[in-house]
Amino acid sequence: MKTINADVVICGGGLSGMMCSLALTRLGISICTIEKSNYSLQQIKDTRSTAYLLPSINFLVKTGIWKHLSKNINPLKILSIINSKNGYPFNQVLNETQFNAKEISKEYFGCNISNCETKQILMKLVKKDKLINYINNEIVNIENFEEHLIINLRNKLSINTKLLIGADGRNSFIRNYHNIKTQITDIKQKAVTFIIQHQKSHNNISYEIYNTGGPFTTVPLKSKEEKRSAVIWVNDSIKIDKLLGLNKFELQSEINKRSCNKLGEISVVSELQSSNVNAQLADKFVDNRMILIGEAAHALPPIGAQGLNLTIRDIKVIFNLIRKYQYSIGSNEMVAEFNVKRLLDVKIRTTSVNILNKISYSDNLIIRRTRDLGLSFLQQAKPIKYLLMRYGLGS
Ligand SMILES: Cc1cc2nc3c(=O)[nH]c(=O)nc-3n(C[C@H](O)[C@H](O)[C@H](O)COP(=O)(O)OP(=O)(O)OC[C@H]3O[C@@H](n4cnc5c(N)ncnc54)[C@H](O)[C@@H]3O)c2cc1C
Repeated sequence: MKTINADVVICGGGLSGMMCSLALTRLGISICTIEKSNYSLQQIKDTRSTAYLLPSINFLVKTGIWKHLSKNINPLKILSIINSKNGYPFNQVLNETQFNAKEISKEYFGCNISNCETKQILMKLVKKDKLINYINNEIVNIENFEEHLIINLRNKLSINTKLLIGADGRNSFIRNYHNIKTQITDIKQKAVTFIIQHQKSHNNISYEIYNTGGPFTTVPLKSKEEKRSAVIWVNDSIKIDKLLGLNKFELQSEINKRSCNKLGEISVVSELQSSNVNAQLADKFVDNRMILIGEAAHALPPIGAQGLNLTIRDIKVIFNLIRKYQYSIGSNEMVAEFNVKRLLDVKIRTTSVNILNKISYSDNLIIRRTRDLGLSFLQQAKPIKYLLMRYGLGS
């Protein structure tokens, strides 16, 4: 049995774990990142994309991560919300409300990058960072001491550390190991994600199109002539499963119909990836010398681009706390301060995303009518519209 030292151990090498590892090394501390899957760069398959909002971009710039991602980004300048009715070959637009970043004196709301490209870039950076020890293995148990932890891996390696960060996703081993309960709101919805090529330019517009069920959202990706976008289509599980069972021709026709011809003729250029979109929130985010971040702590439906942006707020708080508690990393005071700083913010955002999600997928006539009235009200009531736009940005 061999024992090594690391100031911080991060369990999970997904987007949250890798971003957290890279950000914390800027403070000159040593990190050990433990990832259980042994996948290569070429094996990374993720058809999702992430819209990084301005506060997240500012933090990623500060920690030197953004310059590596910035070549692949596409700005989101306009969000267009559309109500549609059935038609053939395309559904028809009933009304359209646009939110333009210029209205709040910004060049853009955020920048979109495919998760696949982001993961490949981050993994290269993590593997060559001298302060990060990236280990493909699994934690089997944790020994608690007053001043430190001993983390034992399946390969018999032990790590002596001051702080453990659980960034190991929805089914977090670290959260379960600490018996932290999770509130799950299962709304029996699924999301299917894929990449499309389209005839018209996207003009940096993200379309969120409502019909029945959840929204069909296109998010512009960087590409030649602005003709590629990522799609997230949320609907009840039965409808998404039916969609997944269609042949290529039928699927393409459904997608074209749902897009209201906003982007011209569409073809699907990636695999289809589906996931459940239930919301999940841990009762607390900390325990002895342990902090949960990312989907291990909070998982949201993919609406309003909040998920990973909330995680970047977690990382920013840890970054500032490690600076504050540089001589007592992982102390009770430090983890308690993290819990207070993050729990309320996450609860407020989870509640608002859940409400938005309910409004967005509801087929109830009254709720749909309220949504339509709300959108036309927002067009008239500019100050409220601007306030909502700023809240959506996380400021
Ligand atoms: C359809 C969809 C669209 C989305 N769009 C957006 C968006 O536009 N903007 C946004 O901000 N967010 C978005 N999100 C959310 C965002 O994608 C997630 O927040 C993010 O990918 C989750 O990252 P994570 O690292 O926390 O978890 P994961 O990606 O699940 O990573 C966890 C990692 O931990 C590893 N692991 C698990 N258990 C162990 C263990 N015991 N030991 C070691 N390693 C372990 C896993 O192998 C995995 O690599 C979206 C989500 C969905 C589903």
